[in-house]
Amino acid sequence: MRRLAFVLLIAAASAAAQTPITIRAGTLIDGRGGVQRNVTVTIEGSKISHIGAANGTPTHDFSRLTLLPGLIDTHVHIDGHFGKDGRASNTGETPAQRALYAAENAYVTLMAGFTTVQSIGSAMDLDLRDAIARGTLPGPRVLTSAAQLTDTRLSTDSIRGWVRATAARGADLIKLFASKSIREGGDQTMTDAQIEATCSEAKTVGKRVWVHAHAASAVRAATRSGCTAVAHGSQVTDAELAEMSRTGTFFEPNIGLVSQNYIENKSRYLGIGNYDEAGFKFMEDGLAVKLAMFKRALKTPGLKIIMGTDAVAGAHGQNAREIIYRVQTGGQAAMDAIVAATSLNAESLGMKDRIGAIAPGMEADLIAVDGDPLKDITALRRVVFVMKGGKVFLGGR
Ligand SMILES: [Zn+2]
Repeated sequence: MRRLAFVLLIAAASAAAQTPITIRAGTLIDGRGGVQRNVTVTIEGSKISHIGAANGTPTHDFSRLTLLPGLIDTHVHIDGHFGKDGRASNTGETPAQRALYAAENAYVTLMAGFTTVQSIGSAMDLDLRDAIARGTLPGPRVLTSAAQLTDTRLSTDSIRGWVRATAARGADLIKLFASKSIREGGDQTMTDAQIEATCSEAKTVGKRVWVHAHAASAVRAATRSGCTAVAHGSQVTDAELAEMSRTGTFFEPNIGLVSQNYIENKSRYLGIGNYDEAGFKFMEDGLAVKLAMFKRALKTPGLKIIMGTDAVAGAHGQNAREIIYRVQTGGQAAMDAIVAATSLNAESLGMKDRIGAIAPGMEADLIAVDGDPLKDITALRRVVFVMKGGKVFLGGR
């Protein structure tokens, strides 16, 4: 008897899980460069099972909307926030307060249509990642570096040990600082040998490496060491851009949100570390430098330009500003900018078979926006529906 009840329970549970959800889309942008009109997407469990001509009454009717894969941001600092004094220094905070601010950031990021982020990163991200993965707390899927490798005094052997230890703690990737901050001029800090040790050891333990690098020499070293991605790159020349293209190194310029956000919130940062007047001058002058660099990057054939914002305190939930700026100011084609923020980003995370595209077998990470972002890229900030792994977190019919 007990056994029968158990069997019935299992049957009921699997029937509930099997009931497909259908979404009708007026326009579907698949994340790989394709567009379809008037289609129905079927979702079973956490995955997309079918895409076909629109028919029947869908669970969610988005005939007047555009459906896209959930957006991906390869570079955030998910715990960055303004504390109770309104400042980014967050003095006198408890770990619980910090954790709750991070949960708020995760929430606003998901509501903005970003279903996966890579946070590079602090130790607290590990717990946030696992909490969101339990399925109740609304937030994007989180990948994290858990720490940042910044100590230039480490020997190459010590660096290799640091990489192994960080991987063992559960980090999804390694974050390396190979140059100074843009607020300090961006010169190379780690030697070529230190950069090589980081990226070769990470490869050995199956981890990717994101390299913070402004100076051209640091970008060159990262590219030649087989590192996964270069972030920032404000001082690269055409030679480094071509070399990244040749080696397949992902390039993540951050031109449309991070510096703008610092400048918009200057009073909340000024006086903390290198956030001084000279640092702000570097950032203000850097806007034009980075824009010109991006335009050169766009002209580099085959360069894999991914979409990361470097979102910090004040910027969370505004991640799509980076995409909008790239299109409106940088001159990138809207489709290319969308592909960068979806399938290309997924590739850079080593997840291209799971996320970043609308296709059968992929995770059902889907968003609907009001408008057609191919005609008006600002539609990406009008997110009216968010599904992650087949579960609806925002909107509906
Ligand atoms: Zn960063």
